[in-house]
Amino acid sequence: MDRSIGDLPTGDVLIEDGRIVGVAPSIDAADAEVIDAADHIVLPGFVDTHRHTWQAPWRNIASDWSLFHYLWGMHTGLSKYYRPEDTYAGNLLGTAEALDSGITTLLDWSHNLATPDHADGAIAGLRDSGARTVFAHGSGNQQWGRVPQNPVPHSEDARRVREQYFSSDDGLMTMALAIRGPQFTTEEVARHDWALARELDLRVTVHVGDGEFGRTRPIEWMRKEGLLDDRTTYVHCCTLADDELKMIADTGGTASVAADVEVQMGHGWPATGRLLDVGIRPSLSIDVCTSTGGHMFGLMRTALSVQRGLDNAALEAAGTSLAGGEPIRLTCRDMLEFATIEGARACGLDHRIGSLTPGKEADVILVRTDTLGMTPLNNPAGALVYNAHPGLVDTVLVAGRVVKRDGRLVHLDEAKLRRLGEETRDHVLAAAAQDELINDVALNGTWTPRSPATLEHAHAH
Ligand SMILES: [Zn+2]
Repeated sequence: MDRSIGDLPTGDVLIEDGRIVGVAPSIDAADAEVIDAADHIVLPGFVDTHRHTWQAPWRNIASDWSLFHYLWGMHTGLSKYYRPEDTYAGNLLGTAEALDSGITTLLDWSHNLATPDHADGAIAGLRDSGARTVFAHGSGNQQWGRVPQNPVPHSEDARRVREQYFSSDDGLMTMALAIRGPQFTTEEVARHDWALARELDLRVTVHVGDGEFGRTRPIEWMRKEGLLDDRTTYVHCCTLADDELKMIADTGGTASVAADVEVQMGHGWPATGRLLDVGIRPSLSIDVCTSTGGHMFGLMRTALSVQRGLDNAALEAAGTSLAGGEPIRLTCRDMLEFATIEGARACGLDHRIGSLTPGKEADVILVRTDTLGMTPLNNPAGALVYNAHPGLVDTVLVAGRVVKRDGRLVHLDEAKLRRLGEETRDHVLAAAAQDELINDVALNGTWTPRSPATLEHAHAH
């Protein structure tokens, strides 16, 4: 993923004190511990730029829900039954799952922090995972229920968190502010939230262009308020207008495409191609494991398939086709860059990670190529995007520390993680069973939260 080095058919990566110090066809380092990477693809760890990690214990509960069902079921519904230990369990399970699949950096878009104890639990879960993480403080259900036009400002506890945990921006864990866009709150509160980010000198990550919420021209409002800058990541962008995407590009912003969730929940078409049209190379994000899988291989596949489908449909509509032999504009290599170096850029970490570059910190993964589905290996980028899966991730290093080896996480007790996830799920399930606002909460695909019409009705009251 370092274009100046290119791809080596075979090669060595030399790591010293957590940093990459050499990448070459052959490196003489007789006293080094050797990790044999024969029959593996060696690449930088993936970067997920937006995941609501606390939801991991509710895996797939929303696989057949729309965005409205999700807002009602998760945010008005289940989130308020989380205790601090549940936020801990969700973050630890969710981040470990990411790490296991080769995602070495995760931006935790943490928006279920009802109390300071919940924030402490969320941070402890990220820390205990051993992954590189960005804790994006996103407040709690006081701020995320009753959308749009929720009137409660971002939690002041973000100040304490910044001071207590993130006095440095150079650690394995860093901080950002996960702000509600103007589509979810009042203008006055949105101004307050951005002022808080500026005061705490934090990068901003914000949902925009998410389904119908995105059609209110949030970027134009932000531009008028002077809030667009190069330290902001714009998540989704599906229903933003073309001129709004241009405003983001003109101010150096980064983007996060959550293609799986966007097509599944109805946010609109993933904006990959439209972002490229204005000069933005997007990062990728999982968003919610309540609906989709938690790994980058599936996400790269969906993002690429959707954009190729859109491009082919546009050609067809214009009366032309690919029969003329023009090159396809979006490639598997592009997807790998989106999943690594562009993710690092969107986290403000591209000077530290995102490519196998001497001087950068050693976040490295090894993906097996000795399986039937990966052999013979004729195109590593194509194989990673179209054939690979988390089960092929053999080895994972974070800042030079081996956290996965021979296909197993070496520093975590997987049985304990599974138990923590089930305990949280069972606690929340039992507590929510008494809740009249969310009807008939249940497992096994039998629960669909109340309809948007009911949601509107509830707002009116
Ligand atoms: Zn999100």
